[in-house]
Amino acid sequence: MTKTAEELKDRYQQLKTKYDEYTAHPLNLNIKRGIPSKEQLDLSVPMLGLLSSPEDFLSQGTVDIRNYGELTGFYEARKLFSELLETEIDEVLIGGNSSLSLMYLVILSKLFTRKMGSSFKEPIKFLCPSPGYDRHFAMTENLGIEMIPIALTENGPDMDEVKKLVANDPTIKGIWCVPTYSNPTGITYSDEVVDQLASMETKDADFMILWDNAYLVHHLTNDKHAAKNLLTACKAAGNPDRAWMFCSTSKITFPGAGVAALGASKKNIALVAKELSYQTIGFDKINQMQHVKFLKDKKQVAQHMEKHAIILKPKFELINQKLTDYFAGKEGLTWTEPKGGYFVHLTTEKGCATEIVEALAKIGVAVTEAGATYPYGNNPMDNSIRLAPTPVSLVDLDAAMDAICLCIEYVSVQKRLS
Ligand code: PLP
Repeated sequence: MTKTAEELKDRYQQLKTKYDEYTAHPLNLNIKRGIPSKEQLDLSVPMLGLLSSPEDFLSQGTVDIRNYGELTGFYEARKLFSELLETEIDEVLIGGNSSLSLMYLVILSKLFTRKMGSSFKEPIKFLCPSPGYDRHFAMTENLGIEMIPIALTENGPDMDEVKKLVANDPTIKGIWCVPTYSNPTGITYSDEVVDQLASMETKDADFMILWDNAYLVHHLTNDKHAAKNLLTACKAAGNPDRAWMFCSTSKITFPGAGVAALGASKKNIALVAKELSYQTIGFDKINQMQHVKFLKDKKQVAQHMEKHAIILKPKFELINQKLTDYFAGKEGLTWTEPKGGYFVHLTTEKGCATEIVEALAKIGVAVTEAGATYPYGNNPMDNSIRLAPTPVSLVDLDAAMDAICLCIEYVSVQKRLS
């Protein structure tokens, strides 16, 4: 029920009193970045003791992986990641510990190397479904690529908009996608969206889909979602070179020492391998081998991810419970209930998100900057907040959620009064 002006003022005073108590006794909590908790990291410590005998360092019984070489990854590593990315073995390139650096490499290889000087005269643009991953946008901006925001729906990017833009503008060279349990809204692309991306007409013949499948096996419940395979869809549509698929074990084993992989057509793998050959004689294959021995295959990865889910699920349930309890019967907030991934996304009243995040910072609760999930940090609606609950304990998360609920209502009521 809508409150009268008088009721609203009373409520504001109550909220202000509570907020002032926090100001006097600030918290010290950080739910800013999607990083695994210590408990999750401990799950993969046994991996570190798996290489001891001389045979452990041999690929296919012959290749000594301690030495130089195997630029695209040795056989067993490519096999493991080809299972995860659902590609042929020679459609995979194994990188270092970061999929982001592979994305950077792919963009450089496709758009900049050998064209330096000439291509900088023309604008280069990327479509950026938003809200999206802040580091994609930071990378794009850093490379001088112009970003065009695209609305992200429950099923993926607004494809009417995407199709219209790419059909007419040859300077639009790519699109960012987080197809499974997207960061931050947790949505998974529908089959229809994947097929449209694979088959749409593009003015730029070399159009790239940067398919960042960072959360491809990161389920929280038994209702498991996964986007359809893009490379397969692109092949079926006659556009095999459009798909650039990425994943890593950052949130399977260790973000500080995981393994990343690229899945793409053989032609594209060769292109990137050539570019890579100027940078390295090979990545850390000892770490690749530890991962091969520890994760084994897709089934073993799934079993390992169940252990992560046991740790993570209560955190996501707690957020949902807290928000449900606090906002029952109140207006002004909707939130996601993700089935996987690392984030909960809050949609606040228009024009409130920045102030809510600032109000939280003043009382010692750090959440992601309000605009960070939009290109150039600019969300015209100023209504989006990302929560990254994975690193904190349930006790701390409980305390953080009390403060978050309070600040959301406090700022929203203040806005309504002004
Ligand atoms: N892609 C997405 C969508 C992410 O959310 C993250 C980390 O939060 C990354 C990539 C980072 O991946 P990596 O550690 O493999 O560089």
